[in-house]
Amino acid sequence: MKKNLTHSQAAAVFNKDVNRVDWHDETLWFVREKRDRAAQQIPEWELLRETASQIKNNVLSDMHHYLQEFEINALKNGIIVHWAADGEEHNEIVHSIIKKYGVKQMVKSKSMLTEECHLNEYLSEKGVEVIDTDLGERIVQLREEPPSHIVLPAIHLKKQDVSETFHQHLGSEKGNNDPKYLTEVARMHLRDKFLTRKVALTGVNFAVAETGEIVVCTNEGNADMGAHLADVHIASMGFEKIIPQRKHLGVFLRLLARSATGQPITTFSSHFKKPREGKEIHIIILDNGRSTQLGRKDFRNSLKCIRCAACLNTCPVYRRSGGHSYHTATAGPIGSILAPNLDMKKNADLPFASTLCGSCSNVCPVKIDIHDQLYKWRQVLVKEGLSPFGKTIAMKAMSSVFANPMVFNFVGKAGRFAVKNTPIIVNNTLNPWYRQREMPVAPKESFREWYKKNGEEFKDKKDE
Ligand code: SF4
Repeated sequence: MKKNLTHSQAAAVFNKDVNRVDWHDETLWFVREKRDRAAQQIPEWELLRETASQIKNNVLSDMHHYLQEFEINALKNGIIVHWAADGEEHNEIVHSIIKKYGVKQMVKSKSMLTEECHLNEYLSEKGVEVIDTDLGERIVQLREEPPSHIVLPAIHLKKQDVSETFHQHLGSEKGNNDPKYLTEVARMHLRDKFLTRKVALTGVNFAVAETGEIVVCTNEGNADMGAHLADVHIASMGFEKIIPQRKHLGVFLRLLARSATGQPITTFSSHFKKPREGKEIHIIILDNGRSTQLGRKDFRNSLKCIRCAACLNTCPVYRRSGGHSYHTATAGPIGSILAPNLDMKKNADLPFASTLCGSCSNVCPVKIDIHDQLYKWRQVLVKEGLSPFGKTIAMKAMSSVFANPMVFNFVGKAGRFAVKNTPIIVNNTLNPWYRQREMPVAPKESFREWYKKNGEEFKDKKDE
């Protein structure tokens, strides 16, 4: 992730490899179509979405109550509960637990929250090696890259890339691109890690307030392997993962896998309620800006997200710019409304990385008004003076032109003359539109001029 590039600059780098962009686009569209087929097989799909949305609305409006209820029940179950105000505190808690056991390695299943907190880097500085056990995450970890997608972390890579990475790091056969062979290599490599590590960290998909249990969904079973074989299971969750009752799982589990990959259900949906004898479960509940987002009337709905990634798969900008261009842990449309909450200045470019077509909102299983929020963030960022200088000046100039009919007419005439006689004015590489688009030929006259001449005739024909 090149932190100093804006989204559009990083996207331009990604777009240099046209074949990869096309393939990335088509692959994610394939997942989107699978999602559509899975959704269409459920007659009550829209009812499910509405129900999920209402359950989450209820949680957001009574968050403190559900969090307290969850903590009380988790403690009763023998789970140790920690509260972390921010990423740093979260990482310190994880480290303090690991330190107690004197271990130097830990296995971890996919957790975007730990990406958000930069846990791997933090623990590495403390001399603790984290081994990501989700296949896609392990691939990007070996390549020292961040995940590019919240469900499919290595979706930007082809099997040839994976083969080369495994050859370099795991000693697999050079040039063997067979996915089955590569999966076997990963399996043998990870099996040893699972068997010998004492501490395992997982994410949390749902935390049930009524019972104090957590539910972790994976397709590879790696969270289960890690948590069952280790003496200590650490589960990290953002506080928005709370749902009120166990019966609500039926709604969310049906929506999650179908929206994410088009599967009817995630292969493993594991419930962790209490530690086995002699073992420990720690749950870390993280805020890290979520309270602030909860207090932002226009943006609080983003906390309903269940991280299915349907909005990424459908987004034309995400599909053709790649996850790394978003320079934030969670890419795509949802990342672009979460990230400015954490750091408005650093992430001011992200709400503009959208066509506002609304496809993200249409597929969201919990009915988040994603494209509306992107638009609202743009307004906030402009008011805060965080939109790009050139764009701000251009918009101010356009605003004064549009506000005055005489100026509008004059600028139109001058523009048409200039484009016709000195096309270099727009056809030059300083104009970002020209770099990727054919510029239009200047019309002979404006619409207003044309209408003055032809309007009556047009009106007569319409009345006939
Ligand atoms: S915003 Fe909606 S569609 Fe996007 S990841 Fe979250 S739940 Fe899925």
